[in-house]
This record gives sequence, C-alpha cells and structure tokens, in this order.
Amino acid sequence: MKYDFAVIGGGPAGYVAAKKAASAGLSTLLVEKEKLGGVCLNEGCVPSKTLLQAAKTYHHAKHGSVFGVEVEGLNFNFVQAHAHKNQVMDRMRGGIAGLMKKYKVEVVKGEAVLQSGLRIRVNGETHQADDVLLCTGSSPLIPPISGIDSKGVVDSSGILQLEQLPEHLIVIGGGVIGCEFACMYASVGIPVTVLETLPEICPSLDKDIAAVLREELIKKGVDFKLNARVEAIEQNYVRFTNGVDSEEVRGDLILVATGRKPNVNNLGLEELGLDFDPRGVRTDERGATNIPGLWAAGDVTGQAWLAHAASRMAEVVVHNILGRDDMIRHDKMPAVVYTSPEVAVVGLTKEDAEARGLHVKTGRIPMAINARYLAENPKEAGFCKVVMEAETNRLLGVHMVGGACSEMIFGAAALLETELREQEIEEIVFPHPTTSEVMKDVFMAVR
Ligand code: NAD
Repeated sequence: MKYDFAVIGGGPAGYVAAKKAASAGLSTLLVEKEKLGGVCLNEGCVPSKTLLQAAKTYHHAKHGSVFGVEVEGLNFNFVQAHAHKNQVMDRMRGGIAGLMKKYKVEVVKGEAVLQSGLRIRVNGETHQADDVLLCTGSSPLIPPISGIDSKGVVDSSGILQLEQLPEHLIVIGGGVIGCEFACMYASVGIPVTVLETLPEICPSLDKDIAAVLREELIKKGVDFKLNARVEAIEQNYVRFTNGVDSEEVRGDLILVATGRKPNVNNLGLEELGLDFDPRGVRTDERGATNIPGLWAAGDVTGQAWLAHAASRMAEVVVHNILGRDDMIRHDKMPAVVYTSPEVAVVGLTKEDAEARGLHVKTGRIPMAINARYLAENPKEAGFCKVVMEAETNRLLGVHMVGGACSEMIFGAAALLETELREQEIEEIVFPHPTTSEVMKDVFMAVR
C-alpha cells in the first residue's frame, strides 16, 4: 500500500504523530510490534506512576496523625495496587486505539524493517510512504557487570511485573528511575539501598535539588551508597567499591537502573545509509534525518528520554511535513521526578547558564513559606529556585523540589517559552492559596 505518512513505533511519539497527521488529512500507517502506547504506557511512566501513587497513599495513611488521621490495621495490598495499575493501562490503551480508529489511522501489528525508497516491510508485505517517522523508543541499558543476569536481578520493565514485595531492594543507579522505585518501595516500608557511582544522585539535576531529594528519601528509609562502583553480583549480594575498599550489600531483589539505549537494531538502518550509531539516530531540530523523507523522534534519537519530549518531537515533525516551520527546543523542556517530594525543572541551571557564558542571578525560597504547602506537606522539605540573566532579567530556568511541583512546572515552561520579563510576570495573578504562589514570590525576590 502507498501512504502519505508512515510511522514505525506506537509510543508517545508514534501515536501522537499518527493522530496529528491523519487528522490533517494524510493517509497514515502506524506499525507497532507490541502494544500501542510504547514503553511509557506499558512498562514505564504510567504503570510506575500508578504504583507510586499507591505507595504514596499508604505512606500518607501511615503518617496521617499530623492531620488527625489515625488508621488501625493499615495494610498495603500490592496485588490490588497492580490491579489498579492494569486497569489504568487498559483504559489508556483503549483510548489510543479509539483515537487511531477515529482518525482512520491504519494500525498494523508487526515488526517493521525499513528499505530504501521509504519502503517498509512488515508481515511479509511492503508499504511505501512519502514521509516515514522512525520512533522505536529505547530499552534499559544493562552494564557489563558479572552476575547481572542472575535470578532476582530485574530492569525497570521487569520490576513492574512483580506483585510480591521483596525483603530488601537494591537499586543499581541513583538516577530518575532508581530514585522513583526507591521512593515507591521505601514508602511501603521495604528497606532500600541505592548504589550510585557518582558523588550525588540524579546528576542532571540542580545540585541543591538533588541533595534535598536524597535527604528526603533517606527520611523514608532509603540508604544511599554514593561513589559506589558495582563490581559483581553473586547470589543476592552486590559487591561495590569506592575505589579503595570493597563492600557488599544483600538484597532479594536487585533493580538495574543505569540508563537507557535507543532501539536502533533490526530495523534495516545500516543498509539505508542513515546517520546513526548506538547513541541514536541523528536529526536536526525539525526531526529530519540525513535521508530525505525519513524523520525520527523520541528516545530513538538519544535525546531527552522523556515521553512528553517524544510527543513534542513528533508534533514538530508533522508540522514540518505539513509545511509549518517548527523546531524542538530541548532547553525549554520540562522534566519531573515523581518521587515524594516531587522534583520539577525547566530550563538552565546556574551552572548550565554560566557554562554558556551568561551572567546570572538566582533566587531561592523554601516551600515552607507557603501556607498551602505547609498545610499539605508539613514534614517535607522543598524549595523553588529561579535562574535569571542578570542584565536583562530574562528567565533562564526554574527548579523545584516539593509536593505538587509536577503540576506547576508547565507554568514555568510557558513563562520560558513566551520569554516574559519580570514586570509581565508580576502582572500574572497566581491563585491563593496555591503552592504556585511560591514561584511568583521567588521571581519577585530575585529582581
Ligand atoms: P539516568 O541516566 O537518569 O541515571 C542512571 C544513573 O546510574 C546515573 O546516576 C549513573 O551515574 C548511574 N550508574 C550508571 N552505571 C552505574 C553502575 N554501574 N553502578 C552504579 N551507578 C551507575 O538513567 P535512568 O534512571 O535509568 O533513566 C533513564 C532515562 O529515562 C533518563 O534519561 C531519565 O531521565 C528517563 N526517565 C525519566 C522519567 C521521568 O521523567 N520521570 C522516569 C523514568 C525515566
């Protein structure tokens, strides 16, 4: 069959692109080898956030006495938490399938291989399209550690299948995935040890934010071993070194959360002359590859590793195919860590900005000055930090740690995208009492 547009991969890049193109009138093919929704919906964002909410609810109930809530016989039913997770995933998958049907996207289940001339081979048939979007996502990166394939060692997809709580969870890697799972298990009373090679967790975050997150997770019972290079896994023991001494820690469940790698294999890419390597498919800021008509978006490009970034990259591609100039702005991409407290950031850190030669000023306000925050999060530390260009008062970045951050960060992203200056920000009304008022307070404090 011949289509206007074909998409390989049905994750947050693929289904967004397919819907957008089809709704603009392009005949559209979407090929997905597993389930619609990709890693995000089936083994990433959605299931992990649903289970995190279950753990958070338990933790709130257990520590509710400050609010006058006292529960006897409290129990965490992990099987029920998984049942809820599965219902959420089923419903969202149904929603995507419904959208594809509504916009008449031809969905084919199978493993696609790209061929020259923008042809796609799937299930023994060959299709062709004027434009093809490659958005095959990413997979967990498993480091070459002896014993890593032992029983009891799982990756971020595998751990989401387990309906039984372990006695002790060891997490290798103190990044975003490691911290989210550490928070989830610690919140329901499971001892957790996180082994991180670097001197601080979540290396991409503002350092003060990472330190507060670490301290808050310690309060929940997470034990962090920093500067810990894992040497081997043997029969539930993980041996690690700080460069001088070796230590070991025992756990019946070991999560490997040491990053992800783009899915670039078995797609026929080598034969096409496509500019790619194991770090991803190279594109320009429109999502165009070096092959005319072949575009890429999402984790397969090795950039951002975020579902919403993938969707936005896909939207940019479709806009350009439809003749509208658009480009991805990674430096204005919000990111969230869904721990308790949450972390939400957008834009440059002070260090990023200074590395670009900018002269910056920063302001920081504790969340605890805010009535709503204090009412809802009496025991959790948090703060909001802004980074501005000193000469122009141009907003460069907003970095927050504290409950409800994830729901506020889009506001900061909008301020960055629209390049509002301090006087215009001052004229925006932030509703009272909301935690978002902290953002206005810090803008006003820093000028
Ligand atoms: P990451 O890059 O965030 O963190 C991996 C961590 O593992 C790093 O801190 C690294 O220093 C450490 N590490 C690497 N090898 C190690 C070893 N041998 N021993 C000990 N530590 C080691 O990767 P991730 O947490 O696996 O997440 C993958 C990607 O997915 C990230 O880019 C992340 O931003 C993204 N993601 C985002 C969200 C979200 O937005 N909430 C959720 C999940 C994943």
